[in-house]
Amino acid sequence: GDEKPSSNVVMFPFMAQGHIIPFLALALKIKARAPDNLTISIVNTPLNIANLRASLPDTAASIELLELPFDAAAHGLPPHAQNTDVLPYPLVIRLIRAAASLKPAFSRLISDLTARRGGPVCVVADIFLGWTVDVARELGVHHAVFCGGGGFGFGCYYSVWVNTPHRKTQSREFALPDFPEAGKLHISQLPANQLNADGVDPWSTFQSTNLPKWIESDALLFNTVEELDAAGLAYFRRVTKKNVWAIGPVVLAAENRRRVGKKQGIASDLCKSWLDSKPPNSVLYVSFGSNNTISAPHMTQLAAALETSGVNFIWVVRPPLGFDINSEFRDSEWLPEGFVERIEDGKRGLVVRDWAPQVEILSHPSVAAFVSHCGWGSVMEALSEGVVLLGWPMAGEQFYNAKFLVEVVGVCVEVARGSGWEVRQEDIASKIAAVMRGREGEEMRGRAAEVREMVRAAAGDADGSSSTKAMDDFFRALCGVV
Ligand code: UDP
Repeated sequence: GDEKPSSNVVMFPFMAQGHIIPFLALALKIKARAPDNLTISIVNTPLNIANLRASLPDTAASIELLELPFDAAAHGLPPHAQNTDVLPYPLVIRLIRAAASLKPAFSRLISDLTARRGGPVCVVADIFLGWTVDVARELGVHHAVFCGGGGFGFGCYYSVWVNTPHRKTQSREFALPDFPEAGKLHISQLPANQLNADGVDPWSTFQSTNLPKWIESDALLFNTVEELDAAGLAYFRRVTKKNVWAIGPVVLAAENRRRVGKKQGIASDLCKSWLDSKPPNSVLYVSFGSNNTISAPHMTQLAAALETSGVNFIWVVRPPLGFDINSEFRDSEWLPEGFVERIEDGKRGLVVRDWAPQVEILSHPSVAAFVSHCGWGSVMEALSEGVVLLGWPMAGEQFYNAKFLVEVVGVCVEVARGSGWEVRQEDIASKIAAVMRGREGEEMRGRAAEVREMVRAAAGDADGSSSTKAMDDFFRALCGVV
């Protein structure tokens, strides 16, 4: 047999759909480009590994899936909380902190793999798993952080955490001391956990040990494109003095999403035939990602805006803020009376429960725009298809992503900010009209088409394709691939 020692990339996402999905996409992307003697492993808790196993197509069977035992109940979480699906947003930080209990088992796993493979091992870990750097250093293996977010948005997020308790800021507008290129931020753009950070709350204490670990890592990988996101990437190069590689877009194809993600609220073929029945560029897609949800009053305003705007739409509805995230679908409680019947009978829209086939929807020619929380996975999926956005950021770095899309890229109109925003149906309706039917929307779609070509070219095979070159640099520097 072949005695060549094999190299190993060991990927470790945080246990949330918005993290597992880009990690799986990156694993498949690495597999498609790397030589055969690079083994790719994904490590996670048993439930997520079982879902990944069911999702992987036969061609990807050679991605190794490795389990770490995890006791959610020991951390004050519901017993089966092995990912954020069953958690209301405020409990997510508890799961993030509980993940550090995986350290001894992860350390044993890496030391076993090092002995078995014979070649270099590189851990590629999530932004919330900074402690994995310590394991890598103890065992003498390489380490990179993979950020499923973008350079600009994450640059702002990182800068706010490392520099300040910004709630103490006197003015409502301020610049970031180490990232002035980002421009002014408004206090309403701080996510609740940054706005309320006082140095002793769970998020501040977590990030004060987690983020400095990024600087101890060997490199940062971002799901973005150099030509699109230069300022944010330059910021990270400046503050970490590490290799910062833009390897995006990292988008998980529809056929690889069989079990990652939640159970779909609509069959893919039904969704497709509905979209097929609509004219090109006539449909608005509405979704707030895998963890966030809007309030009941906001839902009412949005429903009215969608109804009066007259546009075709697909809306992924999840239980509103304050309602049980795991409850049955109760449209009569959450939505205006008769809304679902009027919309679906009139063939105007689809109301999808909980989870939709998002990449299939965004790639359909009938879809013109996306009301999005601006989670970066959703943003990259939209930009890869030339779909423009109506931003409604809710948490984390989503506010900064929205700012980037509006001010730098020019493919987004912001409709609201977070759960405390005053949302009026007339405002939303007029923004929907401007983007779907107005000149503003036309111009944005023109720019989005250019961005789509830029993003596709970056990941292509041509000489000078920036993401492909960055990936090869990563292979050479950290994975022992020549
Ligand atoms: N997603 C999906 N269907 C849905 C909602 C979300 O497939 O109904 C996927 C979406 O395509 C993306 C991920 O879930 O890949 C969400 O990641 P993102 O970074 O956009 O947001 P997060 O959920 O992390 O806030």
